[in-house]
Amino acid sequence: MPLPMIKDSKKSIKNIIAIAAGKGGVGKSTITVNLALALKKRGFSVGIIDTDVYGPSLKKMLPPEQPPLQKEQTLFPATCSGIKVISMAYFRKEEEASAVRAPIANGIVTQFIKNVDWGNLDFLLIDFPPGTGDIQITICQQAALTGALMITTPQEVAIMDVKKAMNLFDQLRVPIIGVIENMSYYLSNSQPIYLFGKGGGEKLAREAGVPLLGEVPVDPILSQSGDQGKSIFNETNFGETTLTETFFNIAERVMQSLDVIKESSEKTALSIKQKDNSTLLIHWNDGSIGEYRFSELQKNCPCANCVDETTGKRFPNSVREDVQVRNIQKVGRYALKFEFTSGCSSGIFSYEMLHLCSKN
Ligand code: ADP
Repeated sequence: MPLPMIKDSKKSIKNIIAIAAGKGGVGKSTITVNLALALKKRGFSVGIIDTDVYGPSLKKMLPPEQPPLQKEQTLFPATCSGIKVISMAYFRKEEEASAVRAPIANGIVTQFIKNVDWGNLDFLLIDFPPGTGDIQITICQQAALTGALMITTPQEVAIMDVKKAMNLFDQLRVPIIGVIENMSYYLSNSQPIYLFGKGGGEKLAREAGVPLLGEVPVDPILSQSGDQGKSIFNETNFGETTLTETFFNIAERVMQSLDVIKESSEKTALSIKQKDNSTLLIHWNDGSIGEYRFSELQKNCPCANCVDETTGKRFPNSVREDVQVRNIQKVGRYALKFEFTSGCSSGIFSYEMLHLCSKN
């Protein structure tokens, strides 16, 4: 039985970055758009997914020059200022109510992640919806995230939610690229006024052991540019400002932090192939090749049918030696999920665990 191919439509995307806050209204979309524009100005190819199915806002900030297209199962993103964008807002009338049940919302976001033809991208920025629930977990599991950028304001209430979001990324093994503090201060006669307190972002970054990548001031130019769908990087709109420098610096620091993350990245499976009816081969990024019998994999299955969740002990089960794997799915950047012919299908096998139980 040939093993189905693992679908990976994002082969040509170098960096997939979550932009998250845990909370709405802190400027996540504003930072996403301006970081994308800064990266684009520096010559990179950039895409954005707006995963806020309930309140998508990117269409206003990035009015499309070319609308998105759908050809059979494949979506082609809209383009705006050279940035490729996909958002629910392109497929719905502005005033239409967004009564979308959670499973449908998950389905839409999954389509945005799996079925969009991005071409080659240096950066795909995923503007996360607020919260730390089902939809956020779905995105982390479906997209092979390179890392997450955390957006906060200096305020304690914002920081609390960012910490929750950071915990979620930690649990799902998504590295944190760094923290960006938005609405840090307001410049009045060249003097900073700290409207929402001072140093919150820096403290958060220090405690989490991640870099503070920048502090963005409260500036009416940012809200106007968003409302008017005009780029601050286009001199005829707002003129060359220190704001553009702020975002160029952030882009630079994001790239530096990504380099550090990549250098220290853990085990990654480069290719996964079926050797014969009973064995799987995984080529690891350190050059080693792991060989795995399906029956041995099933004996190590960590799903709730196989392991008692409260005691952590394995239930006595008799795994058939001729058990096979019907399907394999990648889970984020860190694990695989096997569907065994025995019916077991929900166990997540981390790369670390697979590497440890390799025969070679
Ligand atoms: P989120 O995506 O976190 O919900 P938005 O990016 O939509 O937040 O920002 C919320 C509002 O605040 C928008 O009206 C936006 O224009 C404004 N805003 C965000 N950051 C700034 C800033 N640094 N200066 C001025 N206005 C800002």
